[in-house]
Amino acid sequence: MHQLAATPAWASLAYLVSGILFILALRGLSSPASSRRGNRFGMAGMLIAVATTLVLHGTGRAEIAIAIAIGGAIGSVTARKIAMTDMPQLVAAFHSLVGLAAVLVAGAAFLNPEAFGILDEATGHIHNVSRIEMGLGVAIGAITFSGSVIAFLKLNGNMSGKPIMLPGRHVINLGTLVAILGLIGYFVTDDAHWVFFTVTALSFVIGFLLIIPIGGADMPVVVSMLNSYSGWAAAAMGFTLHNSAMIITGALVGSSGAILSYIMCKAMNRSFISVIAGGFGGDSAAAGGGDAKEQRPWKRGSADDAAFLMGQAEQVIIVPGYGMAVSQAQHALREMGDVLKAAGVRVKYAIHPVAGRMPGHMNVLLAEANVPYDEVFELEDINSEFAQTDIAFVIGANDVTNPAAKTDKTSPIYGMPILDVEKAKTVLFVKRSMEGVGYAGVDNDVFYMGSTMMLLGDAKKMVEEIVKTMN
Ligand code: NDP
Repeated sequence: MHQLAATPAWASLAYLVSGILFILALRGLSSPASSRRGNRFGMAGMLIAVATTLVLHGTGRAEIAIAIAIGGAIGSVTARKIAMTDMPQLVAAFHSLVGLAAVLVAGAAFLNPEAFGILDEATGHIHNVSRIEMGLGVAIGAITFSGSVIAFLKLNGNMSGKPIMLPGRHVINLGTLVAILGLIGYFVTDDAHWVFFTVTALSFVIGFLLIIPIGGADMPVVVSMLNSYSGWAAAAMGFTLHNSAMIITGALVGSSGAILSYIMCKAMNRSFISVIAGGFGGDSAAAGGGDAKEQRPWKRGSADDAAFLMGQAEQVIIVPGYGMAVSQAQHALREMGDVLKAAGVRVKYAIHPVAGRMPGHMNVLLAEANVPYDEVFELEDINSEFAQTDIAFVIGANDVTNPAAKTDKTSPIYGMPILDVEKAKTVLFVKRSMEGVGYAGVDNDVFYMGSTMMLLGDAKKMVEEIVKTMN
């Protein structure tokens, strides 16, 4: 049986270089301007890590090459085909694979400890420290897997976005978590099959239980939290496999995901604990889409009206959301901005931290359309300006502009800071119909305000018409 040898110095050095490249990748990804360079660093780091691992392990190269070829082919076809709007569920699917890989590696190591160099020759049992690594690895991996599958189904629309509340869920969740930790502790004294497989099964269950009650506006936190879990699962695998590159990479992904979750929680005005405990705002009658809506009067406008009003304005603040991504309206929007600026109108873009369906979604799309960075503002830097602005041009955004978040305690988005578009002199609101709701499934009072004009239609087509009228 092949025993894992100590890593030679050259390989440790190569892993260190790949670790540094991953850090540079994260640094690059922190701004749209440097994100391409960041991605290149990441790819180079991964190439070095994979090549080093292949050279290091003499056995099974053919099988590994076949697996890389199959995985690489599936990855490149998916990357080419995937629509930008489906990225969040793709990311959730990738996280689930990392979780599953951790479970499989831990399972393989448990069933064949000698091959992984974790067998204590003297006792014929697995080393104690390896049992803890393996127990934690399989638990985090299984939670990541089942949690990410549920997140995928919710984001992909196969499962309702509504929070699903089990009676007594906090007691069930806490009991299951305590049982998992207790069994991992017990695993140190007894490495019996039943202990390992019960930890695995309970962890699959808790991953499922933790994510089903999270709905509506809290999904962004879940996505970044699962991102963090997938990192820790990979790091745990790194310990089992004695692979320092995996430990470094896993820890980087785990901690950057944790920081992102913290930032998202702050942006959503949620406490981290209440989100992971699940079910925020879920007791509300309004939670979840598709509920009957009130019939209230509203005002419809045309592209001509919008072009006229914006042409008269001193300042227009554009508020993009998920609908802009769906219709890929960012290029037309930049063109509209250019025409307005040429006519002497000040144009700014207001970005809500959870607009769209993934962190940084709007920034990426606006950067792709070459919108100048200095026109793009975060919520806290622009919110006070709406009150002095002639026009808020809301394009495919809904939840992030809903004032119910400030006033309605029963709303699933209550407490989330929103862009104060209702304070602008005029709100131009682009969406396809009055029936459509945002991700959280709640009606928006802004549609029915006297100062709002609804521009109903596909976002890209509507903006193209406005540009045509203005030219
Ligand atoms: P919303 O989902 O609230 O609203 C999207 C709006 O776009 C709807 O009003 C919809 O109305 C409209 N729309 C859809 N397609 C088009 C189209 N082709 N043309 C014009 N309009 C269109 O989006 P927001 O960006 O305001 O809010 C994001 C929501 O997603 C928040 O609740 C957030 O919590 C959640 N979320 C965010 C994640 C993140 O990381 N950013 C991850 C997961 C969830 P209509 O159908 O009538 O056109």
